[in-house]
Amino acid sequence: MLNQPYAFQSGKHQGKAMELMMFDDYGWLFWYLNKLNSESHMGKNSAHRHLEELFYKGETRQPRKTCPQCGQRPVKYLSVLWGYDGAFSAGTHYTCCEDEKCKQALRDEAAGNHIEFFPFKFSALERFYSKSDKRRITGIFKKVFGLPERLTREAACQFFDE
Ligand SMILES: [Zn+2]
Repeated sequence: MLNQPYAFQSGKHQGKAMELMMFDDYGWLFWYLNKLNSESHMGKNSAHRHLEELFYKGETRQPRKTCPQCGQRPVKYLSVLWGYDGAFSAGTHYTCCEDEKCKQALRDEAAGNHIEFFPFKFSALERFYSKSDKRRITGIFKKVFGLPERLTREAACQFFDE
């Protein structure tokens, strides 16, 4: 259990909660976790353990939204249509459950464009390079996970702890 949000005590992100940064600044948080991992020969401090747990939980959240393709099972995947120069289109309508038929319906709709499916796991954000692209994707995550656009750190913490 995370129990309560963890805010940075110092540094460039002082006062910011890790829970909200999962949505707003995942790239930096991921870099920071790797840095802690490479420096943790003497054991892990509480911030490190909290962050590890948060990343673990980011992989196991369950979407609330129903698959727009079949209207039956919960959503599992986000589809992204890649254009030129890393441009992409994505949205809550272009999501699906694990059923191959639902995936195929989205492939058909893509009409030959490069389509890629991502599970609703925070690690999918590693594939999006700019902070604004990551935020676009977490905006879709919020809708699929039934979260408000403006999250408080407490609500974000509760979400990861569910
Ligand atoms: Zn479906």
